[in-house]
Amino acid sequence: MEFLQPSTLDEALAAKAAHPDAVPIAGGTDVMVEINFDKHRPAALLDLNRVSELAEWTPENGDIRLGSCVSYTRVIDELGGRLPGLAMAARTVGSPQIRNRGTVGGNLGAASPAGDSHPALLAADAVVEAASVRGRRKIPVDEFFTGVKRHALAADELITAILVAPPSGPQQFCKIGTRNAMVIAVSAFGLALKVDRRSVGTGIGSAAPTPRRAREAEEFLAAELEERGLWDSRAALPDGLAAEFGQRVRAAAAPIDDVRGSAAYRLHSLAVMARRALTWAWADYQNDDRTGSN
Ligand SMILES: Cc1cc2nc3c(=O)[nH]c(=O)nc-3n(C[C@H](O)[C@H](O)[C@H](O)COP(=O)(O)OP(=O)(O)OC[C@H]3O[C@@H](n4cnc5c(N)ncnc54)[C@H](O)[C@@H]3O)c2cc1C
Repeated sequence: MEFLQPSTLDEALAAKAAHPDAVPIAGGTDVMVEINFDKHRPAALLDLNRVSELAEWTPENGDIRLGSCVSYTRVIDELGGRLPGLAMAARTVGSPQIRNRGTVGGNLGAASPAGDSHPALLAADAVVEAASVRGRRKIPVDEFFTGVKRHALAADELITAILVAPPSGPQQFCKIGTRNAMVIAVSAFGLALKVDRRSVGTGIGSAAPTPRRAREAEEFLAAELEERGLWDSRAALPDGLAAEFGQRVRAAAAPIDDVRGSAAYRLHSLAVMARRALTWAWADYQNDDRTGSN
């Protein structure tokens, strides 16, 4: 197996252009499992760990530009306040060792329907930056996932960064697994209340062929909050609204039965998680005077 080890982004992009079959490796927590179990033996590995630009995060035009090789541990420790939904998701990934090595870019590259960062990125309207020797382009995260473990990258492209706007309102992330740690989600849900735009963002994980948004549920909730004047009053949610939101999130899912859970359980759990996420997010909104002004 050839091992390519560029030390700059230009070198990495040139290597990917010259070896489109080379498998990029960031933390290796997906790639090395596949190799160790002999599921996949690539002709070449493209190690991204020496490319410093990919391991940095910076503020950029009001967004956070998260380099694709920034680990979950750093997201939690350094960006917990700025990207709370993503940090909540990151806290549920694997174990400390996996969070030290695993990256958001690697989660996107694997494009598993169960990737934990995906619901949070979908809810927050994140944008994936892809680059090749041909140039850079931006892919809205809800257009990034094209099928089960498939994504929109061309063979010569790498994920360079994920662009995420700091929240203008509360965010929540919920995950159900068979235990509290070291589990791939049975189902997961991300929620963002976008107070500045008076809109709602959602992300469904592990309950459809790809991570996806529950758009009708988003529109329903945003319209209810608007018509009832709740964005301004921050009054209690009317009875039944959170449950109705949960049912609409459930309706957007298309799960299967598999070893981790049945389709019926995934649907039920999504309705519960969406209801709870909204209840918690609304309580945060009611209790936090700063929300909406940042
Ligand atoms: C014990 C264990 C527990 C785990 N628990 C969880 C969990 O709870 N939740 C969860 O979501 N995942 C979990 N995972 C899976 C894995 O840790 C995550 O998917 C992680 O985000 C992968 O990141 P990485 O940097 O290690 O990716 P890598 O293994 O390096 O790469 C993953 C994929 O992305 C591609 N890739 C990497 N970087 C780039 C790039 N810059 N551009 C293009 N393609 C790229 C690789 O080629 C590969 O296809 C677990 C894995 C293990 C082994």
